[in-house]
Amino acid sequence: MLMDIITIDGPAGAGKSTVSKELARRLGYLYLDTGAMYRAVAWAARHKGIIDIRQKEGLSGLCKDLKLEFRGNCIFLNGRDVSPLIRTPEIDRLSSAVSKVPVVREYLTKIQRELGSRGNIVAEGRDMGTVVFPQAAHKVFLTASLEERARRRKRQLEAQGKKIRYEEVLAQIEARDREDSTRSIAPLRAAPDSVIIDSSHLTIEQVLEKIAMCLKEYK
Ligand code: C5P
Repeated sequence: MLMDIITIDGPAGAGKSTVSKELARRLGYLYLDTGAMYRAVAWAARHKGIIDIRQKEGLSGLCKDLKLEFRGNCIFLNGRDVSPLIRTPEIDRLSSAVSKVPVVREYLTKIQRELGSRGNIVAEGRDMGTVVFPQAAHKVFLTASLEERARRRKRQLEAQGKKIRYEEVLAQIEARDREDSTRSIAPLRAAPDSVIIDSSHLTIEQVLEKIAMCLKEYK
């Protein structure tokens, strides 16, 4: 199918990144990690000393001067690989805050659409199926229970050598869910025409099988 776009949206910790990356690899499609883009903008704002994230002027100027690009699965900001710097609890929180600001969403949505314009892409995020690519042929909303997502996030952080209490991770994820789904602009929600998959009791392979079945049914 020409211009094939697969969107994978859902809350933090549902397994979107692992599934999207692997799906893109199997199909030979481009993998677009839009969370990394919001994280990179948050990191840049912090780096530039923009403390008040709601300060529209500062963020508007920041976006104008930013050059974001993907090289493989790494994200570069004005030529610097920021991938190792953007997956911290602080940037989790700040990315959720910058993602509420209209100028930031407009700036990133434009880049995301440009990257998707050639098709054959797996686009992962919160608003891929609802706002950025509403015309996508295949839409998945991947979710899991709050407790399971917190357990996964804790394991992920531990693998990076970071120690954190389960209750703390749970509270952080709950707060981010609330921020992401109650914002007025492009809130986290399943597109009406998406397939909803609950990954709480599924392995990555089982999720991929379910998606493959949906893709076959469509084609
Ligand atoms: O997916 P990830 O956890 O890396 O995303 C970080 C944050 O970026 C999310 O909590 C959300 O606030 C924001 N985001 C967004 N829209 C997207 C992708 C991410 O608002 N398409």
